Amino acid sequence: MQRILQPGEIETLDRIHFPRVRLPQPATLFQERAARLRQLAEGNPIADYLRFAARLVDAQHRRASAAPAPQPLPADIARRASEHGMPLLPASEHLPDGWQAGLRALLADLQGDAAVPAGLAPVSAALAALDDAALDDLARQVLADNIGREDLAAAPLVMAALQVGFAIRAGSLAEKDVPFAEPATVCPVCGSAPVASVLRIGGEAGGHRYLHCAVCASEWHMVRVKCSHCESTRGVRYQGVRDAGTEQAGKGDTAQPVLAETCDQCHTYRKLVNQEKDPFVDPVADDLAAITLDLLMGDTEFARASGNPLLAIEKPLAV
Ligand SMILES: [Zn+2]
Ligand SMILES: [Zn+2]
Repeated sequence: MQRILQPGEIETLDRIHFPRVRLPQPATLFQERAARLRQLAEGNPIADYLRFAARLVDAQHRRASAAPAPQPLPADIARRASEHGMPLLPASEHLPDGWQAGLRALLADLQGDAAVPAGLAPVSAALAALDDAALDDLARQVLADNIGREDLAAAPLVMAALQVGFAIRAGSLAEKDVPFAEPATVCPVCGSAPVASVLRIGGEAGGHRYLHCAVCASEWHMVRVKCSHCESTRGVRYQGVRDAGTEQAGKGDTAQPVLAETCDQCHTYRKLVNQEKDPFVDPVADDLAAITLDLLMGDTEFARASGNPLLAIEKPLAV
């Protein structure tokens, strides 16, 4: 009897040809990102901020190098997540052990550095004075993208410390531990939103589009015809800096390494960074540096789907 393949089975067939998830390599992740940020700072309208971000990511690299190996994953967690189609370790419920000490070390690393804005010193001092429980509360607000104006400046620092702990833990996993989670628009490891998506080159992942987790840096595959926010296959288009604001359609038909992928169904956009155009692209760094594209998209009907972990901005008041 002929049988129709179910969506999960189709995914399983796909897996034969290319990785479903690309887990982070914390030993090089932050080092490469810092280098990319410095490269992108040249001639960029937010050069000073990108150099500060590079300095912050340098500090992340040092924390990642010094961090102890994470605890092994309890077997029942992977089984349960897989049974329920849930992310493996939802970020807010599984803050990395010792992340608070990591944050304090990261703040000490930044102290007195010329690239760090002077206005950040009191923010940093106030953060360093918080106890572990208060930091955990703040971390959960930052992860939920639910921060008040008073914590905007602190948010990228908190996120930087969290990213180190989460990336180390995600990097210690095996692909088989990572469930097929629903919805497919959130990270199957930690349940966070992607910062951007990336078209990879080289190896088995080459030619495939992956969503890059803003928190743990895991990447998971999603076909390009789907919107990375609502999974609609209707009305996904691309806009670059030169044509933002016009109804420029087409699939990667421009030479730019960063495009805004827009969706006519949910009216959001998220950037796609293309390694075919520049092999050194980094989803977090290139998203941040392409802020001109965000400014241009501000004049369109499309709202940004989710934020960049290294930049906290005040959200417009809901009307
Ligand atoms: Zn994640
Ligand atoms: Zn959509």
